[in-house]
Amino acid sequence: MTKEEKYDFYCEEALSGKTKIEILFESEDVLAFYHTKPFWEKHIVIIPKKHITDLVSVSDEDMHIITKIIKVARDLAKDLNLEEGVQLLTNLGKFQDTPHVHFHLAQGKKIK
Ligand SMILES: [Zn+2]
Repeated sequence: MTKEEKYDFYCEEALSGKTKIEILFESEDVLAFYHTKPFWEKHIVIIPKKHITDLVSVSDEDMHIITKIIKVARDLAKDLNLEEGVQLLTNLGKFQDTPHVHFHLAQGKKIK
C-alpha cells in the first residue's frame, strides 16, 4: 500500500470479520452495522458487500445494489423509529475517507 492509498476498512476489517461489528441487517449484497467509532449519537453504516470504490464509479450493472442500500436505510429508519433529525449521508470519490462505498445513517448530536 502506498502512502496515497487509503485503507479499506470495510473489506479489510468489517467484511473479513477481523474487527467485531454489531450487525443490524445482512443480505447477500448489503451489510448494515453500528459504526465502530461513531460520530453521531446513533451512527449506522450501510455498505455493499461487493467492493465498489465509490459512488462515482458504480456501474449501471451494480446500481441495483445501491438501490438495495437505500431500501435498507428506509427499513432501518422505520424499525428503529429514527424519525427526528435523521440523515443519510455519503461522500463521493476522493472526498471519502474509506475507498469503499458507504452510507451513514445518523441521528442525534455530532459527538466527534
Ligand atoms: Zn472494499
